[in-house]
Amino acid sequence: MELRIERLSKRYPNGTQALQDVSLTVPLGMFGLLGPNGAGKSTLMRTLATLQEADSGSAFLGNIDVLKQKDEVRRILGYLPQEFGLYPKISADALLTHFAALKGISNAGERREVVRALLQQTNLYEHRHTSLGNFSGGMKQRFGIAQALLGNPRLIIVDEPTAGLDPEERVRFHNLLSAIGENIIVILSTHIVSDVSDLCHQMAIIHQGRVVVNGEPAILVAGIEGKIWKKSIETSQLESYRQRFQLISTRLFGGRNIVHVYSDHLPETGFEPVKPDLEDLYFATIKGFTRTTPTLAEVVR
Ligand code: ADP
Repeated sequence: MELRIERLSKRYPNGTQALQDVSLTVPLGMFGLLGPNGAGKSTLMRTLATLQEADSGSAFLGNIDVLKQKDEVRRILGYLPQEFGLYPKISADALLTHFAALKGISNAGERREVVRALLQQTNLYEHRHTSLGNFSGGMKQRFGIAQALLGNPRLIIVDEPTAGLDPEERVRFHNLLSAIGENIIVILSTHIVSDVSDLCHQMAIIHQGRVVVNGEPAILVAGIEGKIWKKSIETSQLESYRQRFQLISTRLFGGRNIVHVYSDHLPETGFEPVKPDLEDLYFATIKGFTRTTPTLAEVVR
């Protein structure tokens, strides 16, 4: 089964064009949707999660028409929204049991079994009697995944899941996601590049409501091989470099600025070539330095 999104567009009543002809094919496994704040990621995720309407276009999950057959989608969807409220005084076990009942698992014995398995899978079993108000950020996110996994979903959507997690919690959350992401479609929407490079076999970059890059991270990164250059400069030189070169990023290292620049050839003496990574591709793309291949939908339009 795959998810096929074709020419999805959405304009909000205030005139914001949040999605513009978005076309994507999302296969089984982890798919990273990367884009800066305001790119349209949540709009796309909420549309796929049947929580809001698109203006035009289509989305099919296998044979299910996602925009029309909302009940069918909800039956096989697990959704972890960007922000979700948890009742702070209820224990993890009690709330997950409640959600399981809402999801239609009506047999009490089966419910207990499902809840126990999910709490174990998300490493929360030993905290099952702890009230959710006492959970750390990472534990809350893992609880979010546990509730999203109720009812054996075929499609899981996670919106900005690692924002605010400390590095250790992030690793645990990544391990959990990659363990569940093998036989179902998991869409991970994020502005954190390393979430995608660590986890996803397929990805897209969305910018200003449009898909600007789509494919396998390693292949996409190979496409800018030989075009990324670095140099260590003083802070006082930054502005002039910003004006003279296609500056991708600056990073402080030992009190100096390491700049990465996008260029087809050596920008000036003192630069050295670097092996590009996904971060270089991402910033070069959203800053408009790379020329993108038009999508099929754009070609046939
Ligand atoms: P992302 O999730 O990538 O940050 P969003 O989908 O939240 O992006 O937003 C895309 C654009 O649509 C932004 O310009 C945002 O301000 C705008 N937007 C989002 N929701 C609404 C809304 N309900 N009404 C009007 N504009 C909105």
